[in-house]
Amino acid sequence: MKKFFLIIAIAICATTMAAAQIASMQQSKTDKAFNSFKERFVLALWKQYPDWASGEGYHKYDSILVLPDNKERNNSITFCKAYTDSLQKFNIELLNDNNKTDYRMVMARLEAQQWYINNYKAYQWNPATYNICGDFAEMLANNYELLDIRLRNFYLKMKNVKAYYETAKQNIINPTIEHTQLAIDQNEGGKSAFSDDLTEALKKSNLPAAEKEAIVSRAAEATTAINDYIVFLKEFKNTTPRSFRLGEELYAKKFEYDIQSGYTAKEMFAFAQAEKETLHKKMFDVTTSLWQKYFGKEPIPENKLAAIKRMIDTISVNHVQPDSFQTEIERQIPVLTKFVNDKKLLYLDPSKPLVVRKEPAYMAGVAGASISSPGPYDKNGNTYYNVGSISGWDKDRAESYLREYNHYMLQILNIHEAIPGHYAQLIYANLSPSIIKTIFGNGAMVEGWAVYTERMMLENGYGNDEKEMWLMYYKWNLRTVCNTILDNSVHTKNMSKNDAISFLINEAFQQKAEAEGKWKRVSVSQVQLCSYFSGYKEIYDLRTALQQKQGASFNLKKFHEKFLSYGSAPVKYIKELMLK
Ligand code: ZN
Ligand code: ZN
Repeated sequence: MKKFFLIIAIAICATTMAAAQIASMQQSKTDKAFNSFKERFVLALWKQYPDWASGEGYHKYDSILVLPDNKERNNSITFCKAYTDSLQKFNIELLNDNNKTDYRMVMARLEAQQWYINNYKAYQWNPATYNICGDFAEMLANNYELLDIRLRNFYLKMKNVKAYYETAKQNIINPTIEHTQLAIDQNEGGKSAFSDDLTEALKKSNLPAAEKEAIVSRAAEATTAINDYIVFLKEFKNTTPRSFRLGEELYAKKFEYDIQSGYTAKEMFAFAQAEKETLHKKMFDVTTSLWQKYFGKEPIPENKLAAIKRMIDTISVNHVQPDSFQTEIERQIPVLTKFVNDKKLLYLDPSKPLVVRKEPAYMAGVAGASISSPGPYDKNGNTYYNVGSISGWDKDRAESYLREYNHYMLQILNIHEAIPGHYAQLIYANLSPSIIKTIFGNGAMVEGWAVYTERMMLENGYGNDEKEMWLMYYKWNLRTVCNTILDNSVHTKNMSKNDAISFLINEAFQQKAEAEGKWKRVSVSQVQLCSYFSGYKEIYDLRTALQQKQGASFNLKKFHEKFLSYGSAPVKYIKELMLK
């Protein structure tokens, strides 16, 4: 009797195992098929969009310049429809988590691509869409291939420049004044790729003289085409210019496609409004508690925002000297790393230290700091932390910059850009390599993570809970919140320039120059300014939800590592998988 039971038990066990094995084999079979689909898809994508390919470091189609005409747009739609069909042949439920998110990201992108052509129609109203200069300049500056080979591709690609700009002129119907000006500035600024930059490159080249001459003469034609385009834009009889404001309907949809949030643009706007009030309140509380320390018996101003501003200005005087800006950043990186390790916030791979360097000349101009990482086809490339140089700036400009990136803010900047912000996220993304996520990486997740880590570090005691640090953090965080409010208000609520500037100065405590710059940015871009706050909010909410669900067993380090293991996927997909 006993023996009989045992046999049955073993038999049952064997069947369950077999079922599990079959399930896992089936899964890996689907995953295998999906992996090869992705490879085919990406190669086809590059063939369809050669410029995009070159930009990602895939140089097979460098010599091709596609004309932005109706034929191209129709091809693009056909391409998207065909790949949507192939995608639908897969059962998403059978894919592993990595492939599940890839599947949805490709699907969303194919849909977005069609919407951009059919509904958004930037090709009609944004003349700045037509600018070849950057791609050509890249061919000269970027050392991915022998110079002479790059120059030959440069020559071949130039063949279509004239036709390209002729097509552009035909496409433009009712351009906005702002994008028209942007197009003039950018084409004007970029055309040196066909003169000075090219001359420099030709000096270093070993091509035969006849070939060099052919290049020079074709470059002259390209320059003429660009100049003609600039004249065309300057003389354009724009009797009914389109507004640069996107309007509610298009804005909502663009938000959906670009941010891929679990919330609508409207909902995110409401969250940002509420968050702004919360931050103001917190900032006033900190200001009140610091007041005596800095102002003694002087009474605190009745206007709360004015009191906060006064405190921020006072604290900002604590900053490094111009010549130690970069060394201070270098000093902080190991300090941040040690803090993350000691507090067990996230595993950081010690074999991949971050290289801090002075911003290279070709990136020049934009001071500040940024992370540059190798593209999907440059696996051995280094990741750098580029630090903009302020040497050579006049005294006032440098002082204003150093006050902005004062003692406290500089640390928050390093958390955001480097550890455990962008740089750490990047290393994790590379651990589960997905070319789909490298190409279609979700900006809101990437920025959201960096913004999230700022608060997370302070919450865990970074900066010793110093009140000044918190105040500066709130100011920094308020910028992302106000970016969302500004973007939405300008594009869907007709916010005027004056109102926008005073909003940024009075409610976000920005300098006039910064506010003016932001206005310029919001008048030629839409939705992107929302990505920081959207991603941050969704990550923070996800953490709260998991804390509630897991109670005492919630572990912050595990949460971070698990979250990052999904790569640069939209937070809403990661959320679904993590809450499952
Ligand atoms: Zn100073
Ligand atoms: Zn960032």
